[in-house]
Amino acid sequence: MSVNATDALADLTAGGMPDAHGRFGPFGGRYVPETLIPALERLDAGVREHLHAPPFQREFAGELSSWVGRPTALTFARRLSAEWGARIWLKREDLAHTGAHKINNALGQALLARRLGARRIVAETGAGQHGVASAAACARLGLPCTVYMGSIDMERQAPNVGRMRLLGATVVAVASGDRTLRAAIDEALRDWVSDPTQTYYLLGSAVGPHPYPYLVRELQAVIGREARAQIQEAEGRLPDAVMACVGGGSNAIGMFHAFVPDAGVEIIGVEAGGRGTALGGNAATLSFGRPGVLHGSYSMLLQDADGQIQETHSVSAGLDYPGVGPEHALLARIGRVRYESASDEEALEGVTALCRFEGILPALESAHALAGARRWAHAHPGGTLVVCLSGRGDKDMPTLQQTLLAERA
Ligand SMILES: *Cc1c(COP(=O)(O)O)cnc(C)c1O
Repeated sequence: MSVNATDALADLTAGGMPDAHGRFGPFGGRYVPETLIPALERLDAGVREHLHAPPFQREFAGELSSWVGRPTALTFARRLSAEWGARIWLKREDLAHTGAHKINNALGQALLARRLGARRIVAETGAGQHGVASAAACARLGLPCTVYMGSIDMERQAPNVGRMRLLGATVVAVASGDRTLRAAIDEALRDWVSDPTQTYYLLGSAVGPHPYPYLVRELQAVIGREARAQIQEAEGRLPDAVMACVGGGSNAIGMFHAFVPDAGVEIIGVEAGGRGTALGGNAATLSFGRPGVLHGSYSMLLQDADGQIQETHSVSAGLDYPGVGPEHALLARIGRVRYESASDEEALEGVTALCRFEGILPALESAHALAGARRWAHAHPGGTLVVCLSGRGDKDMPTLQQTLLAERA
Protein backbone atom coordinates (compact mmCIF):
# COMPACT_ATOMS: atom_id res chain seq x y z
CA MET A 1 0.00 0.00 0.00
CA SER A 2 1.37 3.44 -0.85
CA VAL A 3 1.63 6.22 1.72
CA ASN A 4 1.50 9.95 1.11
CA ALA A 5 4.59 10.89 3.13
CA THR A 6 3.66 14.58 3.46
CA ASP A 7 0.19 13.81 4.84
CA ALA A 8 1.53 11.07 7.11
CA LEU A 9 4.20 13.35 8.53
CA ALA A 10 1.63 16.12 9.08
CA ASP A 11 -0.52 13.64 11.05
CA LEU A 12 2.43 12.44 13.13
CA THR A 13 3.50 16.03 13.77
CA ALA A 14 -0.01 16.93 14.91
CA GLY A 15 0.11 14.36 17.71
CA GLY A 16 0.26 11.05 15.88
CA MET A 17 -3.15 9.62 16.73
CA PRO A 18 -3.78 6.38 14.87
CA ASP A 19 -6.86 6.53 12.59
CA ALA A 20 -10.32 5.20 13.44
CA HIS A 21 -9.15 1.66 12.59
CA GLY A 22 -6.12 1.94 14.85
CA ARG A 23 -3.70 2.36 11.95
CA PHE A 24 -0.55 4.36 11.45
CA GLY A 25 -0.76 4.75 7.67
CA PRO A 26 -1.23 1.18 6.42
CA PHE A 27 0.30 -0.34 9.57
CA GLY A 28 -1.25 -1.44 12.86
CA GLY A 29 -4.93 -2.32 13.19
CA ARG A 30 -6.43 -5.35 14.93
CA TYR A 31 -5.74 -8.79 13.50
CA VAL A 32 -7.14 -10.88 16.35
CA PRO A 33 -9.78 -13.58 16.87
CA GLU A 34 -13.36 -12.25 17.22
CA THR A 35 -13.34 -13.21 20.89
CA LEU A 36 -10.73 -10.54 21.63
CA ILE A 37 -12.48 -7.61 19.92
CA PRO A 38 -14.82 -6.69 22.81
CA ALA A 39 -11.89 -6.65 25.26
CA LEU A 40 -9.84 -4.42 22.95
CA GLU A 41 -12.81 -2.09 22.44
CA ARG A 42 -13.32 -1.82 26.18
CA LEU A 43 -9.63 -1.02 26.59
CA ASP A 44 -9.80 1.56 23.80
CA ALA A 45 -12.76 3.26 25.48
CA GLY A 46 -10.88 3.25 28.79
CA VAL A 47 -7.82 4.79 27.18
CA ARG A 48 -9.94 7.55 25.63
CA GLU A 49 -11.70 8.26 28.90
CA HIS A 50 -8.73 8.25 31.29
CA LEU A 51 -5.32 8.52 29.63
CA HIS A 52 -5.26 12.26 29.05
CA ALA A 53 -7.69 13.22 31.81
CA PRO A 54 -6.16 15.23 34.66
CA PRO A 55 -6.84 12.67 37.45
CA PHE A 56 -4.92 9.91 35.64
CA GLN A 57 -2.14 12.26 34.52
CA ARG A 58 -1.71 13.61 38.07
CA GLU A 59 -1.54 10.13 39.55
CA PHE A 60 0.89 8.89 36.86
CA ALA A 61 3.16 11.94 37.21
CA GLY A 62 3.19 11.58 40.99
CA GLU A 63 4.25 7.92 40.88
CA LEU A 64 6.81 8.58 38.13
CA SER A 65 8.39 11.19 40.34
CA SER A 66 8.24 9.59 43.80
CA TRP A 67 8.53 5.86 42.96
CA VAL A 68 10.20 5.53 39.53
CA GLY A 69 12.65 8.38 40.15
CA ARG A 70 11.80 10.69 37.24
CA PRO A 71 12.93 12.86 35.66
CA THR A 72 15.92 10.69 34.80
CA ALA A 73 19.21 12.55 34.28
CA LEU A 74 20.57 13.74 30.94
CA THR A 75 24.30 13.08 31.27
CA PHE A 76 26.98 14.66 29.09
CA ALA A 77 29.36 11.81 28.13
CA ARG A 78 32.49 13.93 28.39
CA ARG A 79 35.24 11.39 27.81
CA LEU A 80 33.28 9.41 25.24
CA SER A 81 32.60 12.64 23.33
CA ALA A 82 36.31 13.46 23.28
CA GLU A 83 37.06 9.95 22.06
CA TRP A 84 34.39 9.77 19.33
CA GLY A 85 34.41 13.42 18.21
CA ALA A 86 30.78 14.53 18.70
CA ARG A 87 28.94 15.95 21.72
CA ILE A 88 27.16 12.89 23.12
CA TRP A 89 24.41 13.15 25.73
CA LEU A 90 22.85 10.13 27.43
CA LYS A 91 19.19 9.99 28.47
CA ARG A 92 19.55 7.84 31.56
CA GLU A 93 16.64 5.37 31.57
CA ASP A 94 19.09 2.98 33.25
CA LEU A 95 18.49 5.07 36.39
CA ALA A 96 14.72 4.42 36.39
CA HIS A 97 13.37 2.01 39.03
CA THR A 98 13.98 -1.67 38.10
CA GLY A 99 16.76 -0.56 35.75
CA ALA A 100 15.13 0.33 32.44
CA HIS A 101 12.45 2.34 30.67
CA LYS A 102 10.00 -0.58 30.88
CA ILE A 103 8.74 0.63 34.26
CA ASN A 104 7.16 3.76 32.68
CA ASN A 105 4.81 1.57 30.65
CA ALA A 106 4.19 -1.07 33.33
CA LEU A 107 3.29 1.55 35.93
CA GLY A 108 1.07 3.53 33.54
CA GLN A 109 -0.88 0.47 32.40
CA ALA A 110 -1.25 -0.86 35.96
CA LEU A 111 -2.69 2.51 37.03
CA LEU A 112 -5.06 2.41 34.05
CA ALA A 113 -6.07 -1.18 34.87
CA ARG A 114 -7.01 -0.14 38.39
CA ARG A 115 -9.14 2.70 37.05
CA LEU A 116 -10.86 0.26 34.67
CA GLY A 117 -11.81 -1.96 37.61
CA ALA A 118 -9.48 -4.86 36.82
CA ARG A 119 -8.94 -7.33 39.67
CA ARG A 120 -5.81 -8.98 38.33
CA ILE A 121 -3.05 -8.39 35.77
CA VAL A 122 -1.59 -10.81 33.24
CA ALA A 123 1.64 -10.12 31.41
CA GLU A 124 4.07 -11.96 29.18
CA THR A 125 7.82 -11.72 29.30
CA GLY A 126 10.75 -12.95 27.22
CA ALA A 127 13.98 -11.89 28.87
CA GLY A 128 12.11 -11.15 32.08
CA GLN A 129 12.59 -7.37 32.22
CA HIS A 130 8.96 -6.56 31.43
CA GLY A 131 7.87 -9.25 33.87
CA VAL A 132 9.94 -7.68 36.64
CA ALA A 133 8.60 -4.19 35.85
CA SER A 134 5.01 -5.50 35.81
CA ALA A 135 5.49 -7.43 39.07
CA ALA A 136 6.91 -4.32 40.74
CA ALA A 137 4.11 -2.01 39.51
CA CYS A 138 1.45 -4.52 40.58
CA ALA A 139 2.97 -4.88 44.03
CA ARG A 140 3.01 -1.10 44.38
CA LEU A 141 -0.71 -0.92 43.49
CA GLY A 142 -1.81 -4.09 45.30
CA LEU A 143 -2.89 -5.93 42.15
CA PRO A 144 -2.29 -9.69 41.78
CA CYS A 145 0.02 -10.37 38.82
CA THR A 146 0.47 -13.50 36.68
CA VAL A 147 3.42 -13.54 34.28
CA TYR A 148 3.58 -16.06 31.43
CA MET A 149 7.08 -17.02 30.40
CA GLY A 150 8.40 -19.65 28.01
CA SER A 151 10.04 -22.57 29.81
CA ILE A 152 13.26 -22.09 27.80
CA ASP A 153 13.37 -18.40 28.79
CA MET A 154 12.79 -19.33 32.45
CA GLU A 155 15.97 -21.38 32.38
CA ARG A 156 17.96 -18.71 30.55
CA GLN A 157 16.71 -15.87 32.79
CA ALA A 158 16.52 -17.59 36.17
CA PRO A 159 17.51 -14.50 38.23
CA ASN A 160 14.57 -12.52 36.78
CA VAL A 161 12.18 -15.37 37.61
CA GLY A 162 13.35 -15.10 41.20
CA ARG A 163 12.93 -11.31 41.18
CA MET A 164 9.35 -11.60 39.90
CA ARG A 165 8.49 -14.15 42.58
CA LEU A 166 10.00 -12.00 45.32
CA LEU A 167 7.86 -9.13 44.06
CA GLY A 168 4.80 -11.32 44.58
CA ALA A 169 4.02 -12.35 41.00
CA THR A 170 2.95 -15.83 39.93
CA VAL A 171 5.23 -16.98 37.12
CA VAL A 172 3.65 -19.57 34.83
CA ALA A 173 5.95 -21.70 32.66
CA VAL A 174 4.76 -22.08 29.06
CA ALA A 175 5.95 -25.41 27.64
CA SER A 176 3.93 -25.22 24.40
CA GLY A 177 4.90 -23.85 20.98
CA ASP A 178 8.39 -22.40 20.77
CA ARG A 179 8.58 -22.27 24.61
CA THR A 180 9.80 -18.64 24.38
CA LEU A 181 8.17 -15.20 24.06
CA ARG A 182 5.81 -16.05 21.20
CA ALA A 183 4.22 -18.94 23.11
CA ALA A 184 4.05 -16.81 26.28
CA ILE A 185 2.10 -14.09 24.43
CA ASP A 186 -0.39 -16.70 23.16
CA GLU A 187 -0.98 -17.97 26.72
CA ALA A 188 -1.39 -14.47 28.16
CA LEU A 189 -3.98 -13.69 25.46
CA ARG A 190 -5.83 -16.94 26.22
CA ASP A 191 -5.96 -16.04 29.91
CA TRP A 192 -7.25 -12.54 29.07
CA VAL A 193 -10.01 -13.81 26.74
CA SER A 194 -11.29 -16.19 29.42
CA ASP A 195 -12.12 -13.27 31.75
CA PRO A 196 -11.70 -9.92 29.97
CA THR A 197 -13.68 -7.78 32.44
CA GLN A 198 -11.79 -8.74 35.61
CA THR A 199 -8.39 -9.27 33.96
CA TYR A 200 -6.12 -6.67 32.37
CA TYR A 201 -3.45 -7.66 29.83
CA LEU A 202 -0.33 -5.56 30.38
CA LEU A 203 1.62 -5.62 27.10
CA GLY A 204 5.33 -4.82 27.24
CA SER A 205 6.23 -2.93 24.06
CA ALA A 206 4.73 -0.65 21.39
CA VAL A 207 3.39 -3.66 19.48
CA GLY A 208 0.19 -5.73 19.36
CA PRO A 209 -3.35 -4.82 18.32
CA HIS A 210 -4.78 -1.30 18.65
CA PRO A 211 -4.80 0.49 21.11
CA TYR A 212 -1.59 -0.96 22.58
CA PRO A 213 0.99 0.65 20.24
CA TYR A 214 -0.63 4.05 20.84
CA LEU A 215 -1.08 3.51 24.61
CA VAL A 216 2.51 2.35 25.13
CA ARG A 217 3.87 5.29 23.11
CA GLU A 218 1.90 7.79 25.14
CA LEU A 219 3.20 6.27 28.40
CA GLN A 220 6.83 6.19 27.17
CA ALA A 221 6.74 9.64 25.53
CA VAL A 222 7.86 11.10 28.87
CA ILE A 223 11.41 10.04 27.86
CA GLY A 224 11.58 12.35 24.84
CA ARG A 225 9.63 15.17 26.49
CA GLU A 226 12.14 15.29 29.33
CA ALA A 227 15.17 14.86 27.04
CA ARG A 228 13.99 17.65 24.71
CA ALA A 229 13.61 20.10 27.60
CA GLN A 230 16.87 18.99 29.24
CA ILE A 231 19.00 19.35 26.10
CA GLN A 232 17.54 22.78 25.36
CA GLU A 233 18.38 23.82 28.90
CA ALA A 234 21.90 22.40 28.66
CA GLU A 235 22.89 23.37 25.09
CA GLY A 236 20.50 26.24 24.44
CA ARG A 237 19.20 24.47 21.34
CA LEU A 238 17.86 21.21 19.96
CA PRO A 239 20.32 18.39 19.17
CA ASP A 240 21.37 17.52 15.62
CA ALA A 241 20.21 13.94 16.13
CA VAL A 242 18.52 11.56 18.57
CA MET A 243 19.06 7.82 18.66
CA ALA A 244 17.65 4.73 20.37
CA CYS A 245 17.76 0.95 20.05
CA VAL A 246 14.70 -0.79 18.58
CA GLY A 247 13.33 -4.14 19.69
CA GLY A 248 9.53 -3.91 19.72
CA GLY A 249 10.20 -0.19 19.70
CA SER A 250 8.92 1.23 23.00
CA ASN A 251 12.00 3.09 24.29
CA ALA A 252 12.65 4.35 20.75
CA ILE A 253 9.14 5.64 20.10
CA GLY A 254 9.15 7.16 23.61
CA MET A 255 12.37 8.99 22.80
CA PHE A 256 11.41 9.96 19.23
CA HIS A 257 7.83 11.15 19.65
CA ALA A 258 8.61 14.64 20.96
CA PHE A 259 11.22 15.18 18.21
CA VAL A 260 9.18 14.07 15.17
CA PRO A 261 7.90 17.63 14.52
CA ASP A 262 11.45 19.06 14.76
CA ALA A 263 12.41 18.90 11.08
CA GLY A 264 16.03 19.84 11.84
CA VAL A 265 16.55 16.88 14.19
CA GLU A 266 17.71 13.68 12.54
CA ILE A 267 16.14 10.57 14.14
CA ILE A 268 17.85 7.21 14.02
CA GLY A 269 16.75 3.80 15.31
CA VAL A 270 19.28 1.00 15.75
CA GLU A 271 18.18 -2.61 15.38
CA ALA A 272 20.00 -5.81 16.32
CA GLY A 273 22.30 -6.82 13.45
CA GLY A 274 23.30 -9.98 15.29
CA ARG A 275 25.81 -12.16 13.43
CA GLY A 276 25.04 -10.71 10.00
CA THR A 277 22.54 -10.18 7.23
CA ALA A 278 21.49 -13.82 6.61
CA LEU A 279 17.92 -14.75 7.59
CA GLY A 280 17.95 -16.02 11.16
CA GLY A 281 21.21 -14.27 11.99
CA ASN A 282 19.73 -10.98 13.20
CA ALA A 283 16.61 -9.22 14.51
CA ALA A 284 16.80 -6.20 12.19
CA THR A 285 13.14 -6.14 11.19
CA LEU A 286 13.02 -2.76 9.45
CA SER A 287 16.28 -3.38 7.62
CA PHE A 288 15.47 -6.85 6.30
CA GLY A 289 11.77 -7.54 6.92
CA ARG A 290 8.62 -7.41 4.80
CA PRO A 291 5.07 -6.44 5.78
CA GLY A 292 2.98 -9.08 7.53
CA VAL A 293 0.83 -9.82 10.57
CA LEU A 294 2.24 -10.80 13.97
CA HIS A 295 0.61 -10.58 17.41
CA GLY A 296 -2.49 -8.81 16.17
CA SER A 297 -0.85 -6.08 14.15
CA TYR A 298 0.16 -5.45 10.52
CA SER A 299 3.75 -4.25 10.49
CA MET A 300 7.19 -5.17 9.25
CA LEU A 301 8.22 -8.70 10.02
CA LEU A 302 11.14 -11.06 9.54
CA GLN A 303 9.72 -13.91 7.47
CA ASP A 304 10.80 -16.35 4.79
CA ALA A 305 9.49 -16.49 1.20
CA ASP A 306 6.44 -18.52 2.38
CA GLY A 307 5.53 -15.99 5.07
CA GLN A 308 6.83 -18.18 7.93
CA ILE A 309 8.09 -16.12 10.84
CA GLN A 310 11.87 -16.36 11.04
CA GLU A 311 13.92 -17.33 14.03
CA THR A 312 15.96 -14.32 15.14
CA HIS A 313 19.31 -13.90 16.79
CA SER A 314 20.75 -11.14 18.95
CA VAL A 315 23.25 -11.11 21.80
CA SER A 316 20.65 -9.01 23.64
CA ALA A 317 17.49 -10.89 24.63
CA GLY A 318 15.40 -7.70 24.64
CA LEU A 319 15.99 -7.03 20.93
CA ASP A 320 15.50 -10.66 19.86
CA TYR A 321 12.00 -10.25 18.34
CA PRO A 322 10.94 -10.78 14.69
CA GLY A 323 8.42 -7.89 14.64
CA VAL A 324 8.38 -4.16 15.34
CA GLY A 325 5.72 -1.62 16.35
CA PRO A 326 3.51 -0.27 13.52
CA GLU A 327 4.39 3.39 14.11
CA HIS A 328 8.05 2.60 13.41
CA ALA A 329 7.02 0.88 10.18
CA LEU A 330 5.30 4.12 9.12
CA LEU A 331 8.18 6.36 10.24
CA ALA A 332 10.52 4.18 8.18
CA ARG A 333 8.20 4.14 5.16
CA ILE A 334 7.92 7.95 5.03
CA GLY A 335 11.62 8.42 5.76
CA ARG A 336 11.23 10.52 8.93
CA VAL A 337 13.32 8.03 10.90
CA ARG A 338 16.34 6.15 9.56
CA TYR A 339 16.79 2.61 10.81
CA GLU A 340 20.15 0.92 10.76
CA SER A 341 21.61 -2.05 12.58
CA ALA A 342 24.54 -2.80 14.86
CA SER A 343 26.10 -6.24 15.16
CA ASP A 344 26.59 -8.27 18.35
CA GLU A 345 30.27 -7.38 18.20
CA GLU A 346 29.67 -3.64 17.78
CA ALA A 347 27.24 -3.73 20.72
CA LEU A 348 29.83 -5.46 22.91
CA GLU A 349 32.34 -2.76 21.92
CA GLY A 350 29.73 -0.20 22.98
CA VAL A 351 29.49 -1.85 26.41
CA THR A 352 33.26 -1.68 26.85
CA ALA A 353 33.42 1.96 25.74
CA LEU A 354 30.70 3.18 28.09
CA CYS A 355 32.16 1.26 31.03
CA ARG A 356 35.70 2.53 30.46
CA PHE A 357 34.97 6.12 29.49
CA GLU A 358 31.92 6.98 31.57
CA GLY A 359 31.70 4.46 34.42
CA ILE A 360 28.30 3.21 33.25
CA LEU A 361 27.51 -0.45 32.50
CA PRO A 362 24.76 -0.29 29.82
CA ALA A 363 22.24 -2.98 28.93
CA LEU A 364 23.25 -4.95 25.83
CA GLU A 365 20.14 -3.54 24.13
CA SER A 366 21.21 0.04 24.82
CA ALA A 367 24.74 -0.75 23.65
CA HIS A 368 23.33 -1.09 20.11
CA ALA A 369 22.36 2.59 20.26
CA LEU A 370 25.90 3.40 21.46
CA ALA A 371 27.30 1.55 18.44
CA GLY A 372 25.08 3.71 16.24
CA ALA A 373 26.25 6.79 18.14
CA ARG A 374 29.86 5.99 17.43
CA ARG A 375 29.16 5.71 13.71
CA TRP A 376 27.15 8.95 13.73
CA ALA A 377 29.88 10.80 15.63
CA HIS A 378 32.52 9.80 13.09
CA ALA A 379 30.31 11.09 10.27
CA HIS A 380 29.33 14.32 12.11
CA PRO A 381 32.37 15.64 14.00
CA GLY A 382 31.34 18.34 16.47
CA GLY A 383 27.63 17.50 16.13
CA THR A 384 25.30 17.09 19.10
CA LEU A 385 23.59 13.76 19.70
CA VAL A 386 21.19 12.52 22.39
CA VAL A 387 21.23 8.74 22.91
CA CYS A 388 18.55 6.88 24.85
CA LEU A 389 20.35 4.65 27.33
CA SER A 390 17.34 2.35 27.75
CA GLY A 391 18.65 0.26 30.65
CA ARG A 392 21.51 -0.86 32.86
CA GLY A 393 23.60 -3.92 32.17
CA ASP A 394 23.70 -5.76 35.49
CA LYS A 395 21.16 -8.25 34.11
CA ASP A 396 23.58 -9.09 31.28
CA MET A 397 26.45 -10.25 33.48
CA PRO A 398 26.08 -13.95 32.50
CA THR A 399 26.41 -13.01 28.79
CA LEU A 400 29.25 -10.59 29.49
CA GLN A 401 31.08 -13.31 31.45
CA GLN A 402 30.92 -15.56 28.38
CA THR A 403 31.95 -12.83 25.91
CA LEU A 404 33.91 -9.76 26.99
CA LEU A 405 35.32 -11.24 30.20
CA ALA A 406 36.14 -14.62 28.63
CA GLU A 407 38.21 -12.84 25.94
CA ARG A 408 40.26 -11.12 28.62
CA ALA A 409 40.78 -14.18 30.83
C1 LIG B 1 13.17 -4.61 26.63
C2 LIG B 1 14.29 -3.70 26.44
C3 LIG B 1 14.54 -3.07 25.19
C4 LIG B 1 13.76 -3.37 23.95
O1 LIG B 1 12.40 -3.07 24.01
P1 LIG B 1 11.79 -1.82 23.26
O2 LIG B 1 10.32 -2.03 23.39
O3 LIG B 1 12.25 -1.87 21.84
O4 LIG B 1 12.25 -0.61 23.95
C5 LIG B 1 15.59 -2.17 25.11
N1 LIG B 1 16.38 -1.90 26.17
C6 LIG B 1 16.18 -2.48 27.37
C7 LIG B 1 17.09 -2.14 28.49
C8 LIG B 1 15.13 -3.39 27.55
O5 LIG B 1 14.95 -3.97 28.75
